[in-house]
Amino acid sequence: MTTRFTGSFTQQEPIPEDAIEAAVAVMRSGRLHRYNLADGEEGEVSALEREFADYMGSRYCLAVASGGYAICTALRAMGVGHGDRVLTNAFTLAPVPGAIASVGAVPVLVEVTEDLVIDLDDLAAKAGEADVLVLSHMRGHLCDMDRLMEICDGAGIGVIEDCAHTMGARWRGVLSGRHGAMACYSTQTYKHMNSGEGGLLVSDDADLMAKAVLLSGSYMLYPRHGAAPGPEAFEGIVLDTPNISGRMDHLRAAILRPQLARLDAQCAAWTERYREVERCLAGIPGLVLPGRPQAEAFVGSSIQFLLPDRSGAELQAFVAACAARGVELKWFGADKPAGFTSRYDHWRYAAPGALPRTDRVLAGLLDMRLPLTFSLEDCRVIGGILAEEVRRLA
Ligand SMILES: *Cc1c(COP(=O)(O)O)cnc(C)c1O
Repeated sequence: MTTRFTGSFTQQEPIPEDAIEAAVAVMRSGRLHRYNLADGEEGEVSALEREFADYMGSRYCLAVASGGYAICTALRAMGVGHGDRVLTNAFTLAPVPGAIASVGAVPVLVEVTEDLVIDLDDLAAKAGEADVLVLSHMRGHLCDMDRLMEICDGAGIGVIEDCAHTMGARWRGVLSGRHGAMACYSTQTYKHMNSGEGGLLVSDDADLMAKAVLLSGSYMLYPRHGAAPGPEAFEGIVLDTPNISGRMDHLRAAILRPQLARLDAQCAAWTERYREVERCLAGIPGLVLPGRPQAEAFVGSSIQFLLPDRSGAELQAFVAACAARGVELKWFGADKPAGFTSRYDHWRYAAPGALPRTDRVLAGLLDMRLPLTFSLEDCRVIGGILAEEVRRLA
């Protein structure tokens, strides 16, 4: 009898009870807007900003409406505007080129390697083409951050890190998001903390952060922030910075604060699950697991593998066979975007050029979520099914 997995790949854990209580307290107060505070009250949003900055070891933090909004805001704060070119890795999620397009800029796509990170040689070759890089740590894979910063610092490129999949991860002990000038996080349901929608932006740069705070829609209430620069950083720019509303509210912040307190434990639980599936897939002929360098402490909230020598038809059949056994995979080689999964050449507005190395990688790339509602035994069952179906291909 063939095993079938019956769990859901999109079912998250419930919101913790203390977070629910905090959210109910906000609703009982009626004060949901971040600047609606009682006398002497800090408010959930400011408290979250203070606590996240503290967790990250950053000087400043701003909570916003989404991860994509955080990237748009970082681009604007760094002065990117209409007609500018912005470097970004070709393997990422659609909100990244979307954020670049939203400020009227044009992405310059950089190749990715078989390890699913930005191709640093291609980045070095294209370094003269733009002043800003949005580095997307797609699916939690960190490139050699030391060499990346060397290339970018050498070429005068400002780095915005998209840490939607690396909240809690580290490169050589440094938290992901602490290398670039600004870093963006998402608290959307499928990321490492869940407030439905939401985003966080961190930086050590007072000028960039003051601009970001004003951009997010602070009116003249920026002194009510928990982790923003002092009033002197705002003085010269208040009248020149447009209000592009995208604040976070107290309800979401209330849900996130108790989750932040558990973040490291959650990250460890994800990686345990990743290792379980990885063990089942290791050593199968024709299946390549992306390398995970020693310097990278990743968060295994999803797993990727490559079946490089297979035709499109074979991969389609493989995905269907796994789906028939309850294992949901995403394939980056499909002609048309499906669900959340799209490929750089589907982003017609980004006018993508040819990226042969990326094409070869994405044609054989499979991707699977690992929600924390899966037990380790679930992961062994899933890994076993994948291993059997890959062997059946051979
Ligand atoms: C989810 C995601 C974003 C955007 O986050 P939202 O909060 O959904 O706007 C950006 N980059 C990557 C890689 C993502 O996965």
